[in-house]
Amino acid sequence: MAAAEFFEARIFRGVLCHSSTLNTFGIVFLAALILAAVTRLWLARRHVAYVQAHRTDVPAAFAAEISLAEHQKAADYSAAKTRFSMVDTVVGTAVALAFTFGGGLQLLHEISALWTTEGIARGVVLVALFGLVSTLLDLPFDYYRTFVIEGRFGFNKATPGLFFADALKGLAVGALLALPLAAVILWLIDALGAWWWLAAWGVTIAFGAFVQFIAPTVIMPLFNKFSPMQDPALRERVERLVQRCGFKVKGLMVMDGSRRSAHGNAFFTGFGNTKRIVFFDTLLKQLEPPEVEAVLAHELGHFRLRHVLKRMAITALLSLGFFWLLGYLMAQPWFYSSLGVASPTPAMALLLFMLVLPPFTFLLQPLGAKYSRMHEFEADAYAVQYASARDLVSALVKLYRENASTLTPDPLHSAFYDSHPPAVARIARLQKA
Ligand SMILES: [Zn+2]
Repeated sequence: MAAAEFFEARIFRGVLCHSSTLNTFGIVFLAALILAAVTRLWLARRHVAYVQAHRTDVPAAFAAEISLAEHQKAADYSAAKTRFSMVDTVVGTAVALAFTFGGGLQLLHEISALWTTEGIARGVVLVALFGLVSTLLDLPFDYYRTFVIEGRFGFNKATPGLFFADALKGLAVGALLALPLAAVILWLIDALGAWWWLAAWGVTIAFGAFVQFIAPTVIMPLFNKFSPMQDPALRERVERLVQRCGFKVKGLMVMDGSRRSAHGNAFFTGFGNTKRIVFFDTLLKQLEPPEVEAVLAHELGHFRLRHVLKRMAITALLSLGFFWLLGYLMAQPWFYSSLGVASPTPAMALLLFMLVLPPFTFLLQPLGAKYSRMHEFEADAYAVQYASARDLVSALVKLYRENASTLTPDPLHSAFYDSHPPAVARIARLQKA
């Protein structure tokens, strides 16, 4: 059979037999998938409409620092990004349907037999094929986002060469990290029987911690250059602040973010011996030293108030629940048959689970966003104890302006997604401090 005929026959057979086995769970998944997509599209439309309705007036609190032209650029940028996210939602939903009911995963399983038919090895090949196909499907979207949207608004600094080099490196690093983990989990399923999920959860948590630990020294330098902060005056100012807050941080690094984007940022990374504070070179160009200090005080607040640790603990707890659920579902024949899969293998269960989970956890999104916004307010409150509130306000206003972040998001869209409080509420609270 020629390859084309083989694929055609598979897909045809897939559609035929799977539509007839669409049982209760298949219907529940389909309903959740459609509900999540419709909610996303509805929120996006609201957001675009709201931003455009407020396009003609800079909010009073910002009128002195942000010009009407800058405000309108932010509105157009938000609208462009949000409209594109709607395309992403529709295609993402179609891809999830194609992998499940469309027989896509089953097809990848059959293709994996070209390499091996041994259980665990074939499972790893299936996971690798799925990762490869997903990455290739994402690539045109990333390309459009980078070169068309970011490019149009003057934010993109990457060349196509750098973009594709990043994609290749990302794929290689992803494979190097994910495939051994998948192999270990598949082996645990094979070796431990009913309690595999508990051991697999432990391994996954330990693995996550390991990746966090090596990220600043091994993974991130593959993509960016990190150099110690040079400017002696700024360095001294920052070191004094770090001391005032009772910290010991070894690395005070500057990252060449300007190679890819004009957006600026600052973050904390690693833990133990690899703990460091990283500033984007773009951020240092945009802010005055006292403003850099205020932004850093905010980041230190996240650390001191254990926000990172709390999030990791919640994630670990949630994933324990997910592993337990996966352990249960893996043993149910209907889990496979109702989702368009005829070959119930452990690797298949892992992938199906990853595809099925998002529309259900979508409902947790507003809770997670609210939790994150609470942490932002807490970090701001911490920052103004150790640095000037006025400097933090002026730093934030500059960052809103330089990043063309909208000052007038749709309140519901913002409540659902935003990890940071809306500009107006955040600045108002800082001005009271
Ligand atoms: Zn923050």
